Amino acid sequence: PVGLDGSTVDVPTTTFDDIGGLEEAKRELTRAVQWPLTAPELFAELDIEPPAGVLLYGPPGTGKTLLARAVASMSDANFAVVNGPELMNRYVGESERAVRRVFERAQSNSPSVLFFDEIDGIGATRTGDDNSPATERVVSQLLTELDGVERRGGVTVLGATNRPGRLDKALLRPGRFDRVVSVPMPNRQARAEIFGIHLADQAATTFDLDALAERTTGYTGSDIAAVVREAGLLAIESRVDDEGAATRVEDSRVRIEPGHLRQALDT
Ligand code: ATP
Repeated sequence: PVGLDGSTVDVPTTTFDDIGGLEEAKRELTRAVQWPLTAPELFAELDIEPPAGVLLYGPPGTGKTLLARAVASMSDANFAVVNGPELMNRYVGESERAVRRVFERAQSNSPSVLFFDEIDGIGATRTGDDNSPATERVVSQLLTELDGVERRGGVTVLGATNRPGRLDKALLRPGRFDRVVSVPMPNRQARAEIFGIHLADQAATTFDLDALAERTTGYTGSDIAAVVREAGLLAIESRVDDEGAATRVEDSRVRIEPGHLRQALDT
């Protein structure tokens, strides 16, 4: 569902098992997000303040959104997404109030994870073109909200960016986005895992995951998902009859074969 303030709230079902590679990032998120949300009393006992915010940074399509959804799900927390540039554009003159509202809503739905996608679109550096009084007010509202969140068992704020250098430095001060987690391009091992995850429904077929990983140097998780999707379309295409209709044949499930993947990679 999409709320009036542009945020969406739901309880995701993704887990870390649906995400290939990114072991370091998963470990960081377990400690910085899951534990504070699920065992706040342990943090209280030791008088440790969990981070108010965690910043995920890395190239597009590497799994930042997926990680945020998964950690919310594993923490039994509600998940709300706010898109940075959308917040600034859709609510011209209203963005400040929208920021206040999404935090209020996250707090009343706690425990919750509030995910700011493309957060650099909000916290863009206040020098240069973005130096408008409006941007300034939205950033300072965001800082106020971050400083006020109930960290233990309440709200955890995640932000994602492809351009960490563009973030307003004030957002990175202690007590704000004070954990910065890298979400890198997948290495060969991770690419094999990602193929395995996206081909998990094709359990009847054996795929050479290592060979697929070998052929896809420089691919992101999102690129790999697209290859599998294309292979799926090729599998359906192979079922198209003379009239051009894709049909479902009784007792024979449509399957992605290794050849479909090779063909998808060749195009
Ligand atoms: P952007 O910066 O463009 O928002 P992102 O880093 O948030 O990208 P996601 O939206 O999480 O990337 O990934 C897009 C899709 O790519 C996912 O829905 C998933 O299908 C696939 N994907 C990306 N990374 C992985 C991964 N590590 N394991 C499995 N699937 C992945």
